Amino acid sequence: MPAPAPPPDGPCVFCEIAAKRSPAWIVHEDGATVAFLDIFPFTRGHLLVIPREHGARLTDLTPEAQRALIRSVAELCGRVERLAPDYNVALNAGAAAGQIVFHVHFHVIPRYGEANPFRATTRAPLEAGDARKLLVELARP
Ligand code: AMP
Ligand code: ZN
Repeated sequence: MPAPAPPPDGPCVFCEIAAKRSPAWIVHEDGATVAFLDIFPFTRGHLLVIPREHGARLTDLTPEAQRALIRSVAELCGRVERLAPDYNVALNAGAAAGQIVFHVHFHVIPRYGEANPFRATTRAPLEAGDARKLLVELARP
């Protein structure tokens, strides 16, 4: 049995984004999923794909939500290839695996040839100007 997610301090930040109560740079949404730019990208175009259904990890979701999520991840992988042919897809499940937001999400992280972008120290906040440009590139199907 996986360890239960820590109790949230308040409303779930990703549920708030999915409900449009919190702002996000949304690149794709459908009835079951939402994808948006990570505000602290590891690389340019780093995005997150979430289910609208709340669950801390993949195994908490209904099979329908799991399928919809994987379909959207594949869609976003295709779009990220507009930025770079190579990318990482990652899912952190549980605090020991580095999960910080306990609403399941896949990271899609374009790779441009950098040796190791997964360092907290080299992460800069997403700039609004670049986010707008990324939306032009990523928000069309
Ligand atoms: P994880 O460590 O897998 O839980 O990753 C959580 C990710 O969510 C991190 O990469 C954060 O930069 C990102 N993040 C947290 N809050 C927001 C937000 N409001 N909008 C976009 N990305 C966020
Ligand atoms: Zn949530």
